[in-house]
Amino acid sequence: MKPPPFDYKDPRSLDEAVAVLADCADDGKVLAGGQSLVPLLNFRLAQPAVLVDVNRVAELAYLRRREGKLQIGALCRQARLEQSPVAQESCGLLGDALKLVAHQQIRNRGTVGGSAAHADPAAELPVAFACLDARFKARSKRGERVIDARDFFVTHLTTSLEPDELLTEVEVPELPANHGHAFEEYSRRHGDFALGGAAVLVMRNGDGACREARIALLGAADTPLRAREAEQALAGQKIDEDSAREAARVATRDIEPTGDIHGSSSYRKRLIEAMVRRAIVKAAA
Ligand SMILES: Cc1cc2nc3c(=O)[nH]c(=O)nc-3n(C[C@H](O)[C@H](O)[C@H](O)COP(=O)(O)OP(=O)(O)OC[C@H]3O[C@@H](n4cnc5c(N)ncnc54)[C@H](O)[C@@H]3O)c2cc1C
Repeated sequence: MKPPPFDYKDPRSLDEAVAVLADCADDGKVLAGGQSLVPLLNFRLAQPAVLVDVNRVAELAYLRRREGKLQIGALCRQARLEQSPVAQESCGLLGDALKLVAHQQIRNRGTVGGSAAHADPAAELPVAFACLDARFKARSKRGERVIDARDFFVTHLTTSLEPDELLTEVEVPELPANHGHAFEEYSRRHGDFALGGAAVLVMRNGDGACREARIALLGAADTPLRAREAEQALAGQKIDEDSAREAARVATRDIEPTGDIHGSSSYRKRLIEAMVRRAIVKAAA
């Protein structure tokens, strides 16, 4: 299959990329790793007049730790983040999530910003970012703005980025050294998109009880979904099989996942409940 015809621009700097996007009005699309966009073009589900290839904007490929935050340039490849000792030390949940993303070759090419901007509700990184309270930096000719995770993901394949805005960075606040993290999901074959899953963080008090828990669901809704009622139910509790089971029940009580040939809505709901329970127990351990 072939994509529809398009004009091709390959800016060499951030300023140039932002200027090119502004010139495109609503007809431009950013090309990063191409692992989601190229199939969409080939199926003609996306038909942009202009492709703005940002692969030569080297200043967006950074990964650094600064002032208690992990700052990930939008063009940082998923594989680099996965293998980074700095990221593993400060935000281990990202490594848990990335191991589950597609296959090595796709992660070698796919970018962190591309996964966030694509906003697939079955994608792992957006769920991890929601769990980690990440913030998204966007640049346009009008300036820079910072968007919280809860406002960034709007619905299926849709973020709050404007057509002329380039995602430049995902910033993740570091967590205390003694936190636990887990990402659990089920997919039919290794590397396939998951049918359901959950990311969990557990911060403990000195007495071992849960001080703060964060739970984000994958495949439960049109966007990554934080299970805030269940998070509150876990705070102050000792985490064991029973409290994890109850929190998982609360976390998934009101969800209505979309069913398809791979699994009905009720099957996916039960599946996500099981993934939440497992992830809580694992993160706490
Ligand atoms: C066979 C296969 C299996 C896969 N399995 C999984 C999986 O299990 N889990 C998973 O999470 N992903 C999976 N993916 C998707 C993969 O992770 C992609 O790399 C990712 O979704 C998009 O990143 P990209 O850099 O390739 O972005 P692209 O494909 O280049 O772009 C994706 C979208 O984001 C926009 N965009 C990209 N960068 C920016 C930016 N800086 N600012 C604004 N908009 C931007 C583009 O315009 C486009 O709309 C799979 C892909 C394939 C081909």
